[in-house]
Amino acid sequence: MNNFYNHHAFIDLNPPQKEAVVNLEGPLLVLSGAGTGKTRVLTARLANLLFSNKTKPWNILAVTFTNKAAKEMRIRLETLIGPSANSVWLGTFHSIAARILRENAEIVGLSSNYTIITPDDQVRLLKQIMLDDEIDIKKFTPKSMSNLIGKWKDKGYKPDDLKISNIDDYFANGKAINVYKNYQMRLITLNSADFGDLLLHNLTIFSKHPDILNQYHSKILYFLVDEYQDTNTIQYLWLKLLADKTKNICCVGDDDQSIYGWRGAQVGNILRFEKDYPLAKVIKLEENYRSTGRILEAANSVIINNKERLGKNLKTSSKDGDKIDLISVWDGMEEAKKTSLEIENLYSAGFRHDQMAVLVRAGHQTRYFEERFVDIGIPYKVIGAKFYERMEIRDALAYLRVVQQPNDDLALERIINIPKRGLGTNTTSLIHSYAKKNNISFFSASQELLMTDELRPNVKRSLLNLINQFLDWNNQKKEIAHTDLALKVLEESGYIAHWQNEKSLDSEGRLENLKELINAMSGFENLSGFLEHISLVMDGDNTADAGEVSLMTLHAAKGLEFDVVFLPGWEEGLFPSQRSIDELGLAGLEEERRLAYVGITRAKQRLFITFAANRQIHGLWQGSIPSRFISELPRHILNENIEGNIGADASSYYQIDFDLSTKNGFYGPGFLRAKQNGIKGINAYKKAHIDTKIINSKIIFDNGQRVFHQKFGMGLIISSDGDKLNINFDKAGEKKVVSSFVKLIE
Ligand code: ATP
Ligand code: MG
Repeated sequence: MNNFYNHHAFIDLNPPQKEAVVNLEGPLLVLSGAGTGKTRVLTARLANLLFSNKTKPWNILAVTFTNKAAKEMRIRLETLIGPSANSVWLGTFHSIAARILRENAEIVGLSSNYTIITPDDQVRLLKQIMLDDEIDIKKFTPKSMSNLIGKWKDKGYKPDDLKISNIDDYFANGKAINVYKNYQMRLITLNSADFGDLLLHNLTIFSKHPDILNQYHSKILYFLVDEYQDTNTIQYLWLKLLADKTKNICCVGDDDQSIYGWRGAQVGNILRFEKDYPLAKVIKLEENYRSTGRILEAANSVIINNKERLGKNLKTSSKDGDKIDLISVWDGMEEAKKTSLEIENLYSAGFRHDQMAVLVRAGHQTRYFEERFVDIGIPYKVIGAKFYERMEIRDALAYLRVVQQPNDDLALERIINIPKRGLGTNTTSLIHSYAKKNNISFFSASQELLMTDELRPNVKRSLLNLINQFLDWNNQKKEIAHTDLALKVLEESGYIAHWQNEKSLDSEGRLENLKELINAMSGFENLSGFLEHISLVMDGDNTADAGEVSLMTLHAAKGLEFDVVFLPGWEEGLFPSQRSIDELGLAGLEEERRLAYVGITRAKQRLFITFAANRQIHGLWQGSIPSRFISELPRHILNENIEGNIGADASSYYQIDFDLSTKNGFYGPGFLRAKQNGIKGINAYKKAHIDTKIINSKIIFDNGQRVFHQKFGMGLIISSDGDKLNINFDKAGEKKVVSSFVKLIE
């Protein structure tokens, strides 16, 4: 192999970067700001390990934050070292832990074909357990129980590690630990693990069986970890155990980009590094290669307001670049309109669509952008579009999961009556209690019940048919290709016909998605490989690049970069998110500010920040005021495009004292626009809101009006009852729909 030090991937690095790449032995921490080349250094170091013949690819473990990042790193590595890049253990904590668990599943009572259950299966399972335990699930929801268990797992707590005095256990009237215990037992019976279990089971395996840990010690000799600031306690413990022998561990991170505190990330892990590894070398990188001077200045001036930070210097030798565009808009619709206009202008000026991104604080913000982009034909993709979370995909996956593992109760319960085959709730609860009483799976309970007289003849016939089908498909698993089997399952079960028969606008799309699912399967060797992949990439971040504008959350954008970045919705309550502040106070606010820093530093050349005067939240229109983060941006780097020509008054516009409890004296652009219309004072502001409400409320619907509905098409309002409209659709006939789902046709 050629010497890596003659390779441009090495030559192009600056001196501290080189230092991090050259020092291969012992613990190393690279702690530095956004865009300073941490990920680049990590990849170069990986290449150097292989070039130097120090070790084999399969002796290296590299952890990235998302599957997408892993994929990108693998591609980069492949161009450097060729196909042997494929043998490096490269993936997220979850995917690597899933693999280790599969290799040792029986130790924790699972078999190697265990299923990784999805968050909503988790909630459904918890609901059953909580109901059995007579917990008021209105007061203590299964969803919050699942969050609590997730939190415990992130800290590495098993049920036995928890004490009654644990404050969290007041949840569910002191029954939470018991629910956790039952939940874990149920998961084992179901041969399933949830996300949090992957690492938790790994820790159990390592602590119960030092010999197994030893095996991994001699297998994995070098560790590389990106985005180290976002590791949580269990990930930290896992890494520490594994790397303990060789201590050849290199972590890179940035405390200012720690944005997963709400998921248990411990920025303190970075600070602990030097304590854990007293011989650690710490390298700081200060040169930012990504952004223009002004973008960097914006990022620096926002993050400087955080008290809890190590404080770093970030500089660039790039030009100042364009000013940052700060744009005010009336509402989300106008925001999408203005954004798309800018996108079109930039596109004409030579920027590529795939070099532009719209980064939102909350997932629901993407809707207006999507609608607008569809309307005017801007190609886009939503990262984390949750392809695998769509109803038809989940149904299809549930069928396949039962084929793979008949004891997957959650999957079987999901589709037992989809399409309808007369196996409704009465039947399922009967099977359910039988399964529970005899401590067997839902599938086995169905089989046993079929031999009794407990089921009505038609129910029996239908259930027998389904069970036989599953047995039959299961038998064929080894005989026919998994893609053919999937198609067969979906056809023979009547699932495809179920959508073909439903003649709605979106049934077509659903059938397309099912085809796409089978396409996706062809990239995998077998059904089990595919199902494992699915459960790990539920975040859908593996879409291919085809020249589209990216739409995603700020959280999903970590580590990425784009020529042009749009940051919409910079309004108090939305960003910073009120919920973060309510739940975590100052710490929550500081995490929001780090998110702003992450957002700003994704941009290489152009940055647009927008805020709206009105936002629809849970269907209600509310006036909003600009985010405090806007007031933290230095005015001289802004190109302001503020409605209402506030001109000389501008300073009062931004300089909001958020320590004051009252927000009097400050009005958003809604007020300014109303003021231009000759209405005065705070009433004008209110009036502006009321007007918006009227425009968007049901009052405007009258009998005889023509409307459009996304699914049913054009129709005529016949009558209305509250916000429910009775509409005679041209194609779909008469239907009752909620008024917010239809658009008025003028
Ligand atoms: P983040 O904190 O956002 O994850 P990072 O520190 O990982 O950022 P990289 O993504 O590795 O930074 O690098 C940012 C950009 O700077 C990339 O486009 C990278 O190729 C480029 N870059 C890094 N180092 C150099 C260098 N020495 N010379 C030229 N470009 C560089
Ligand atoms: Mg990075």
